[in-house]
Amino acid sequence: MEFDFDLIVVGAGSGGLAAAKRAASYGAKVAIIEVNKIGGTCVIRGCVPKKLMVYAAKNRINMVSSEGYGLKSKEITFKSKILLSNIREEVSRLSDLHSNSLKKLNVKVFEGLGIFLNQNTIQVVCPKTKNILREISSKKILISVGGKPKQLNIPGKDLAWSSDDIFELKDFPKTLLIVGGGYIACEFASIFKNLGTEVTQLIRGKNLLNGFDKDLSECLEKTMISLGIDLKFQNQLKSIKKMNGNLESTLESGTKLLTNNVLIATGREPALKRLNLDIFNLKMDGMYLKVNELNQTTNSNIFAIGDIIKKPNLTPVAIEQGRVFADNFFADKKRKVNYENIPKAIFTIPEISTVGLSEEDAKGIYKEENIKVFKCSFTPMSNTFKKNKYKCMLKLVVNKKNDKVLGCHMFGEAASEIIQMVSVSLNAGITKKEFDITMALHPTISEEFVTMYG
Ligand code: NDP
Repeated sequence: MEFDFDLIVVGAGSGGLAAAKRAASYGAKVAIIEVNKIGGTCVIRGCVPKKLMVYAAKNRINMVSSEGYGLKSKEITFKSKILLSNIREEVSRLSDLHSNSLKKLNVKVFEGLGIFLNQNTIQVVCPKTKNILREISSKKILISVGGKPKQLNIPGKDLAWSSDDIFELKDFPKTLLIVGGGYIACEFASIFKNLGTEVTQLIRGKNLLNGFDKDLSECLEKTMISLGIDLKFQNQLKSIKKMNGNLESTLESGTKLLTNNVLIATGREPALKRLNLDIFNLKMDGMYLKVNELNQTTNSNIFAIGDIIKKPNLTPVAIEQGRVFADNFFADKKRKVNYENIPKAIFTIPEISTVGLSEEDAKGIYKEENIKVFKCSFTPMSNTFKKNKYKCMLKLVVNKKNDKVLGCHMFGEAASEIIQMVSVSLNAGITKKEFDITMALHPTISEEFVTMYG
């Protein structure tokens, strides 16, 4: 049977773009369908614009806290309009770069919603008019439509922002309630507070960042409190209503909070609803599409990568899944994604970064008596003359039986940059002894990783 393409990719985010480009580079005839801007969550409304906001927040906090270094400015003003418009410009530039590289590789781009007609045919539909713009067919179809913010099912939920809305803002609010204690909630609490917004953060559990090493979440909690973020634990949002141009949030405890805006960051879910997948009766894994090691769904023509499958929902993971898919099916290179030792970072100020097992997980897997923990906490030199002297924390989790380092965790300046490199060593099976015989680089924060003993 003749098809229009060898591969249709539905969704031009990080994973979809990686798969389309890699497959096209092997000579495959590729189409990609996208309903929004080319780039997806990471480039348009996630990692990239968020990190630019983090840089703004870091710069401001450095400016306001550097008097001890002899640096004083009469007045530090923050014009959020300038930052937000520069971010939009940069995001458009990156989106255009992706479009151009697709063009160079002869990948055909279709603007619109991709809706399955059958296992080989996709209709490209205008999201507004619902008119069918094109019908295209392919031997293989890769779904890479990503995720979307989960909504809370409470009265007034539509009055709140999701993280997507932050990047559409014209200006920053003066007061903000953030709901959630995960990645997005903590990163935005840190960004907004360090840029001058009064932030209250509402967490349903007892601590921030569930599932992360406890020492990391405790360090972050202390820093957030000393920065003046009002953390409210073990409480939930019950309703939101308008109140004289502001929003009044009612909590489970009965407390009422009045803020300019509310940001709900209580997780994300796969954006699968608009694809018409019901016609295939595909097997699911909870809310995710079930796939095998080759990212094949239970329909052998249809593949899935990124935030719609039950794997760490992180940009580099989606990119690698896309490349591995293309390598396997368009170049006959047999390879698999390595899901071991995936480094993670939470871009608060300072950052949290981690690779491998938390102390709690390591003790759960290998038994408490087989685990040794090396830990240190100190005021980093960069804080010597600053008023707000947060402490950084470095930690190694080691298997006593074979001396293997199972986890490496850090809270502090440049943690993400350091942990990215440590993850290479963990993948290579590094032992604590190899850390110990490595010469320190002085004066740095990360030198403590090679000088910890006990
Ligand atoms: P997370 O899963 O990280 O956090 C969700 C938070 O919302 C948790 O604190 C959770 O509480 C809470 N929550 C869930 N449901 C409810 C509810 N009904 N009422 C109150 N609180 C609730 O999700 P995020 O939205 O922060 O991030 C989504 C994903 O995006 C991340 O998992 C990550 O994969 C990715 N991401 C990665 C980033 C990075 O790499 N730096 C940055 C941002 C996002 P509890 O812990 O009790 O379940």
